[in-house]
Amino acid sequence: MPEGHTVHRLAAAFERGFGGQRVRTSSPQGRFSEASQLDGMVLLGAEAVGKHLFLPFAPSGDVDRGSPAVRHVHVHLGLYGSWTFAGDPGFADAHAIGAPRLRVGEQEEELGDGGSGGGTADWRRLVPRETVRLRVAGAHGLADLTGPTACEILDAEERRSVIDRLGPDPLRPDPQGSGRRRFVEAVRRSRTTIGALLMNQKVVAGIGNIYRAELLFRARLDPFVPGKELSAGMLEEMWEDLVALMHYGARTGRIVTTQPVHRELEARIIERSRGTRQNGDEDPGVVPREESFYVYHRQTLPCRLCGTPVRSGDLAARTVFWCPRCQCVRSRRANWTREHPAAPWALGPQAADGRAA
Ligand SMILES: [Zn+2]
Repeated sequence: MPEGHTVHRLAAAFERGFGGQRVRTSSPQGRFSEASQLDGMVLLGAEAVGKHLFLPFAPSGDVDRGSPAVRHVHVHLGLYGSWTFAGDPGFADAHAIGAPRLRVGEQEEELGDGGSGGGTADWRRLVPRETVRLRVAGAHGLADLTGPTACEILDAEERRSVIDRLGPDPLRPDPQGSGRRRFVEAVRRSRTTIGALLMNQKVVAGIGNIYRAELLFRARLDPFVPGKELSAGMLEEMWEDLVALMHYGARTGRIVTTQPVHRELEARIIERSRGTRQNGDEDPGVVPREESFYVYHRQTLPCRLCGTPVRSGDLAARTVFWCPRCQCVRSRRANWTREHPAAPWALGPQAADGRAA
């Protein structure tokens, strides 16, 4: 399932590719027949909240996004959904975003290699696959949605109620710090383990299994500690770390949580099948996936810091990965800053490339 940074990248791709344009919409699969009601409307832009994507459609481009005339297409990709883009060179970073299992389909093969001009003009003639739930076509390209958990039209009130059910999203602007405050309070109210709370979209929106495992490691925190035993200060630091990590993810399309000095050891990841594909920007200096994580899918391999075998176990219906030695912080009483003078949250991947958070 794509984590929140991927959905924010999708929203940005829609903004660039379709924002303010009158578009054609259809449901080749037929399961989203309401698509015909949007055909010919203006797609005002796109909005991501946690793992939810909203596409606001209006009769004309000068309608305010908050207007009752706006119809919001709400999409949640779930485990199997993905978007595929095709279009003129440079259009919306033409590629597939979403579930790693799903590839683009035979039509994209015919598109050739994109930017070289070898056939991108043909996108207008692309016949959608039968599984396409929603196609959006604009002046310079199209986007096909397959396999989502949710694809529906909401009015302004219904959109609001979806958002109100979600916890704060670390990728949304938060000038007053209310997102951080809500997160800290939700965790400290609960007897549930911090490992389970981090996967609860009502506590924090947008985290998936990779960010959960890595965030806990960077905080040196035992995944099985109840939320109410954690100090506010520690949770505030954790939130700030998450904000930095997810912004890095949204900027590059990749989750990288390791510091350069820790990437040497055991460049291996243990995964069944094909593993998690990341939809990152092309960048020759990219950190290889095998070196990007401290504990995620590194069960039984030595911890990058202490050499203890990384453990795995079930927590909130997904496998959690942790180092039993490094992640010894169990309560607010632990003097973790003194024990770990290099406060892990200060060591974002930004340190790797010299950019500020
Ligand atoms: Zn360790």
